[in-house]
Amino acid sequence: MDYEAVIGLEVHVQLKTQSKMFSRVAYRYGEPANTLTDPVVMGLPGTLPMINYEALRKTVKVGRMFQSDIASTSKWDRKNYFYPDNPKNYQISQYDQPLCTGGSVEIELPGPARNIMGPHRKVQLTRIHLEEDVGKLTHAGSHSLVDYNRAGCPLIEIVTEPDLFSAQEAFSFLTVLRMHLLYADISDCDMEKGQLRCDANVSIRPKGETTLGTKVELKNLNSISGVRAGLEFEIQRQIEALQNNEPIVQETRRWDAETGLTTPMRSKERAHDYRYFSDPDLMPVKLDWAWVQQIEYPERPFDKQRRFFETYDLPYTLTSVLCPQRDLCDYFEAAVKAYDHPKAIANLIANDLLRELSAAGNAQGALSLAACKVSPEDLGQLVRLVDEGTISKQVAQDVFAEIFQTGVSPATIVEKKGLQQTNDNDTLETLCAQVIDANPNPVQQFKAGKVNAINALKGKVMKATRCKANLKLIDTILRRLLETTSNP
Ligand code: ADP
Ligand code: MG
Repeated sequence: MDYEAVIGLEVHVQLKTQSKMFSRVAYRYGEPANTLTDPVVMGLPGTLPMINYEALRKTVKVGRMFQSDIASTSKWDRKNYFYPDNPKNYQISQYDQPLCTGGSVEIELPGPARNIMGPHRKVQLTRIHLEEDVGKLTHAGSHSLVDYNRAGCPLIEIVTEPDLFSAQEAFSFLTVLRMHLLYADISDCDMEKGQLRCDANVSIRPKGETTLGTKVELKNLNSISGVRAGLEFEIQRQIEALQNNEPIVQETRRWDAETGLTTPMRSKERAHDYRYFSDPDLMPVKLDWAWVQQIEYPERPFDKQRRFFETYDLPYTLTSVLCPQRDLCDYFEAAVKAYDHPKAIANLIANDLLRELSAAGNAQGALSLAACKVSPEDLGQLVRLVDEGTISKQVAQDVFAEIFQTGVSPATIVEKKGLQQTNDNDTLETLCAQVIDANPNPVQQFKAGKVNAINALKGKVMKATRCKANLKLIDTILRRLLETTSNP
């Protein structure tokens, strides 16, 4: 029998804010343990929570970006449980009146490599709610260490409908979700720092069946590819269990990236286990419609990609490199504003700029565009110099590398180093004639019909001019001279 997987994700995202969700204490990653706490975070008697305005604003921004319904009234609930990661023994969350409900995230469907945008689909969201994070436990042998720095930091939970149908689709969803959150400056989404965490729910059913099978929740998925790997294993495990007539138990399983296995953690807890009730210390949030409406969100990545196709006529190979990174797109558009040749500019960014940024980076990753010395205006100017015939494409590459190192403008470098292209017919003609004389082999091959042999001759002329010659011109001159040259 053919089986189909059904997946729903629960994604937690730490919001980028100065202070914690319900208190003034700051939150930063990587500080000494338990230095970022205060009486509110520790839940000491007599303290009262206060809502972080920026966290509220960012959550609404996410909801608007994904076209969720923004609740005019939402409220806070206590999720009660006893575990040392939580000093208060309850977590302030939102149970039945979340800030955002519904909405969707557009994903690109997996498929073979292609030159145009492939099929897309909207994955339905259930809800987005705001809550506080809990502390971090580190288990070491017979004891555990607890760090409350992270406790109380603003966290949103984005829950999808069971609307993903393969491990690869879940991977695409998370990649694209992360891209949107980075675009809108919601979070840095660094999974290694726990800024984005994902639990995956998965069940299987016979293909064609519409009711849902028994689901298993996977935890400890520490990266986006970890989510994919964990799901791939779990889907296979469930299929094999069904084929062997073993029941699927509703439970929480832990993914172990080392062994590549999922193992049972606990039977699934249910909502009533948490004894949810409205937090008596916090008033419901009433949002003013006008306030909601004026919260802007950036152009979404796929909308941008479609616009780049239409406005700049860029191929998929270029838009799919530029569009995942908002700063790269802004840079591209600034360069196009300075000089209107989108394709050449996009090529220079996708090839030369990204290569230099990555070469200048370190183990943590490429150099950031913000630290790059090449301004978009200079990049535009460089393309203009090529288009106007002032420098050759080959020289442009060297000039680019030099701007990248020094930040000096392209025109200045070309002027100072005398890199202007030789468009002087007489000089080039003499050179071409010399090259033809000195290289009988390619000349003979060319005459015998091997037209590509001309490239060897072009290369020699280019070399003689230190790459400053106008290639097109050399090509014309060489062809004319070869016509009249007798066979050597
Ligand atoms: P719970 O009561 O266990 O919290 P929810 O109904 O709230 O379950 O769903 C939690 C997540 O699990 C959601 O992302 C949802 O889409 C997903 N989900 C629910 N049922 C299934 C199922 N049968 N198969 C796969 N995913 C499911
Ligand atoms: Mg639930």
